[in-house]
Amino acid sequence: MEPHAEVPLFDMELDEDERGDVLVATGVGATRAEAAAPERDAFIYMNFMKHHSCYDAIPTSSKLVIFDTSLQVKKAFFALVANGVRAAPLWDNKRKCFVGMLTITDFINILHRYYKSPLVQIYELEEHKIETWREIYLQYSTNSLISIAPEASLFDAIYSLLKNKIHRLPVIDPASGNVLHILTHKRILKFLHIFGSSIPKPWFLQKQICQLAIGTFKEIATVPEWASVYDALSIFVERRVSALPVVNEQGKVVALYSRFDVINLAAQKNYNNLNMTMKEAISCRACWMEGVLKCYPHETLETIIDRIAKAETFF
Ligand code: ADP
Repeated sequence: MEPHAEVPLFDMELDEDERGDVLVATGVGATRAEAAAPERDAFIYMNFMKHHSCYDAIPTSSKLVIFDTSLQVKKAFFALVANGVRAAPLWDNKRKCFVGMLTITDFINILHRYYKSPLVQIYELEEHKIETWREIYLQYSTNSLISIAPEASLFDAIYSLLKNKIHRLPVIDPASGNVLHILTHKRILKFLHIFGSSIPKPWFLQKQICQLAIGTFKEIATVPEWASVYDALSIFVERRVSALPVVNEQGKVVALYSRFDVINLAAQKNYNNLNMTMKEAISCRACWMEGVLKCYPHETLETIIDRIAKAETFF
């Protein structure tokens, strides 16, 4: 872990992609009385995270799926769907170690890069092994596996998630080399929600998210309902957002299409027809696939954290 500055947790800036998953106050919108509190409150969460280890946040039992890099890409995505998981660590049997992660972002990148038309099968998806895809992909990025030890603090885990702009952080036991769990923003938020009741509540929890300037309120990426799924994938790739409001001709939001919906294409085996419209894609998704929660600008940060932590959505 690289040395890092002592940045209060609530001052950290998140990019668009991360805003969907974790909520962080910036201190904007405080009254005069509250302005005195930040000094004290600024460090409440940071200290909490520094005094708890990754091991503390790991559930006693959870499902973990691991892929050998010699597995075909297509089978790997089917296996994610079949096992109801969003990501899997990758095991390189030649090097006898974990070398990376496979997530829905990878599925989006493969489809977006190789899709030609409904009449042409995506050869790279049908034939490539994970290792072949990684060889091509890693030409453009230096991604090696980013992981953390169970003894490391949650503060270090959060710092790594933010710094590396990733949503999955495998906790690897240094003694055995085993992956114990995959930490996510949501898991950490849930841990704070359950065990944070013993610490004082920072003032900003009672503020409305619009006052705290949390979230994105302008230049929202949207997709028209007559646009194709491929158009939506292009926006995911270019803007790095996690969900898109789908708008009708009057500009009214009629649905939300999330990155997670893209895995539906694998589940329903219709990834060969990315020319279908958003309207069609939304109408044929199973109702349990809706993974986007809603909130309003006037709701307090506490209400929203509560909603995310309690949601059983498939994040
Ligand atoms: P998701 O697609 O579930 O939102 P991420 O945003 O974390 O997941 O994934 C973005 C990219 O980073 C993907 O190519 C993924 O394979 C890669 N990635 C995710 N987690 C890690 C990690 N811990 N180490 C290395 N690469 C990762």
